[in-house]
Amino acid sequence: MHCLRCNREIETGHKSVALYMFAQTVGIKPRQKSAAHRISFCPQCSVSLAMGLPPEGALNMAAWDMIRDLVSSDPALNEAAWKSLSRVSGLLPATGTDGDPTPSGGYFEF
Ligand SMILES: [Zn+2]
Repeated sequence: MHCLRCNREIETGHKSVALYMFAQTVGIKPRQKSAAHRISFCPQCSVSLAMGLPPEGALNMAAWDMIRDLVSSDPALNEAAWKSLSRVSGLLPATGTDGDPTPSGGYFEF
């Protein structure tokens, strides 16, 4: 399973948001039903999408609304996104204490 937005791998049992999508005919017999698709977003992308500007397109808008519902109703996803971000930041050397001292100090150099 990969995040649709950033392609990060989402391991089984890890926190993520899953969107299930299928289409079916209404008022037509026999009823036809498409295969169901599962779309996943990692916590970082879920939070980022929810807090960002509304997307374009009716379908994107519907998905955005649902993700916003989840992100705003409980801090668990925010927390998961924060934990993952702080893990990445923890890997960077603390400026001024590790590695080469930079004359400017306090700035990250990428
Ligand atoms: Zn992602």
